[in-house]
Amino acid sequence: MLAQEKGKVITAGGLLESAELGRVMMHEHLYCDIYDWAAQRLITEEQPITPERRELLMTAAVPPLKECNQHGCHALVDATPAPWRAWPTFYQEISRAANMHIILCTGFYREVELSSYWAKTPATQIWPFVREATVEQLAEFCEREIMEGLCGTAVRAGAIKLGSSQSVMTAAEEKAFRAGARAQKATGVHITTHCTRLGAETSQLELFDREGVDLSRVVIGHTAWHLTDANCRKVCLGWMKRGANFLPTNLGISEDGGKAWQPLVDAIHAVFDAGLGSCLVLGLDWAFTSESGPFAPCGFVPPPPFLHLFTHTLPAFRAMGLTSSEEEIMMQVNPQRILPVQ
Ligand SMILES: [Zn+2]
Repeated sequence: MLAQEKGKVITAGGLLESAELGRVMMHEHLYCDIYDWAAQRLITEEQPITPERRELLMTAAVPPLKECNQHGCHALVDATPAPWRAWPTFYQEISRAANMHIILCTGFYREVELSSYWAKTPATQIWPFVREATVEQLAEFCEREIMEGLCGTAVRAGAIKLGSSQSVMTAAEEKAFRAGARAQKATGVHITTHCTRLGAETSQLELFDREGVDLSRVVIGHTAWHLTDANCRKVCLGWMKRGANFLPTNLGISEDGGKAWQPLVDAIHAVFDAGLGSCLVLGLDWAFTSESGPFAPCGFVPPPPFLHLFTHTLPAFRAMGLTSSEEEIMMQVNPQRILPVQ
């Protein structure tokens, strides 16, 4: 990475000082098109966005994103990896329209279990390029997207997304993680992961550690459950002591005011009480996606898109005892430390 880029954040719109980010949603998906349900095929390359999709995102995503500004939020990490992102220049368009900085990810998604979501055959469980390429080729791909740009454009990725499905990685996932680790060391951007299973936090962090990645450059994602589970929380606290960051997501608030999240709010207090609040960030995982059917707003986090975090989640968490200082550290202080190139 160029020396003059150290300390700056790489966004779709260019390099930025971290203070300009304000509060940051650390894991969202503005556009995640994985599977063409009509043609029954996995999406294998990025294409210019269709007029219908542009219209959908301009009307359904831009207004709520703009309103996030009123809550001090001026940036989001789009955690969608290649090749399921929108055409790179479209993020610049959305970013200007919504007055929202977008940090794009390079990297590779997990190997999805057969017969879950879209994966009906082994060939559709993971982007075929990940199975076919060597670690070197995968690392080169990530480094090019960070240093030069995506799909031949000058729009650059500012983070690396990696994912594994179970507590033990598949061979393809392990290759992707090793490549991502190399790209992290070569570029200095942070790594954000998909880690829904208890135990996967340890296999992911052990691999990064073996590869020589500074664990403070890693955010382990989808970890509300890990932090809430008393035994797993102990394991996570051990990793936090070594610098690793944890990111609870999917924090949708239902009709009952989200009472089911009280254990997570208590877990967040426990992490702060242990002196490790500097290792927590938050995201919703709100998505416009074709994960479960034709491309549409997601069904797994309630509306309004993205803004839900500020209109529903954080007020509910505050009512359950989250303090304003804990909120500020997770939403602003920690992201502004993690996102700049180091
Ligand atoms: Zn996600």
